[in-house]
Amino acid sequence: MSKIDRQKIMDVLDGYDKEDITIATLGSHSSLHMFHGAKAEGFRTAVVCEKGREIPYKRFNVADEYIMVDKFSDIVNEEVQQELIDMNSIVFPHGSFVAYAGLDNIETIFNVPMFGNRDILRWEAERDLERKLMTESGIRIPKKINKPSDIKGTVMVKFPGARGGRGYFVANSTEEYDEKIDAMMARNWIEEEDIKAAHIEEYVLGCNYCIHYFFSSLKDEVELMGIDSRYESTIDGLVRVPAKDQLDIGADPSYVITGNHPVVMRESLLPQVFDIGDKITETAKGLIPPGFNGPFCMQTLVNDDLEVVVFEMSARSDGGTNTFMNGSSYSYLYYGEPLSMGRRMAMEIKNGIAEDRLEEIIT
Ligand code: AMP
Repeated sequence: MSKIDRQKIMDVLDGYDKEDITIATLGSHSSLHMFHGAKAEGFRTAVVCEKGREIPYKRFNVADEYIMVDKFSDIVNEEVQQELIDMNSIVFPHGSFVAYAGLDNIETIFNVPMFGNRDILRWEAERDLERKLMTESGIRIPKKINKPSDIKGTVMVKFPGARGGRGYFVANSTEEYDEKIDAMMARNWIEEEDIKAAHIEEYVLGCNYCIHYFFSSLKDEVELMGIDSRYESTIDGLVRVPAKDQLDIGADPSYVITGNHPVVMRESLLPQVFDIGDKITETAKGLIPPGFNGPFCMQTLVNDDLEVVVFEMSARSDGGTNTFMNGSSYSYLYYGEPLSMGRRMAMEIKNGIAEDRLEEIIT
């Protein structure tokens, strides 16, 4: 199926009453602050929600309209799309939206105007594209090891798809790699297909910082909105077990995200943070026009040489934005009041309408 013609989306947007816009998204992931922020900026909000999952939106009272569906993936159904368009909806994408709607559908059949760049989402999902963007940006990323027999030193082994780190492992030699592959197969955490697609990279020993940026196309500037750190099972549970018992347990750590902590970085690291944001957004403009537009996240590890090493990115609102629903130490600095990512997104839409530039930030 061919990609949606941009003109088709612009025609839908043209038909909207700009005084009566609804901000809509799937009820999951990081939608609470999107709805809350949209309401704070004066928009109506609509949640597309799987039956049984509506409780948080009711209890926190952040949604004006409920579009109830049997399953989240129904958001791409024609009737649901029409309902959204009838409400003059602009969709805010997030991780669950991309997962349930499906990348192919977002690119080919989802005609509802979206905030962001719908073409950049694939660059997060496909590891080769992601590496291309990062390499061309000239930012520090973990070195790639081309084949298991080349393993020297500690490596991290990853498999395709966003699976919350399930099946990832650390190895120090080719033999250990082979042993752990067998163990992961026995646990049914990986399949034969995954082994062929295994990605091996330098293990970066350091602390985890997931940096949430907002790229304003209207201002042509990157803003630092907040930073979180991941709370992952089983690795974060394992470190609470005394070393001698860790050996007895014989557990291989896994990296399944269960939550996030808000963090701040040493102030002396912030020049690197802005440099990464500037470089990646500049490169993206050329590779995937119009480039980043709105929220994105660079997942990093900071080693004891104080290098910020980027190992992954989200090309849309990342789940860690939930750590600053009432603003972060950084987002506060811009506006002198608590500012969530969702509210910043809604502000951009509001500014786009006021400056008559909405079509520049919608795809
Ligand atoms: P990911 O699925 O790529 O977000 O990775 C899941 C987790 O694995 C991360 O949160 C890190 O804790 C860890 N991790 C990923 N890549 C590396 C690496 N190159 N070196 C060390 N730890 C890593």
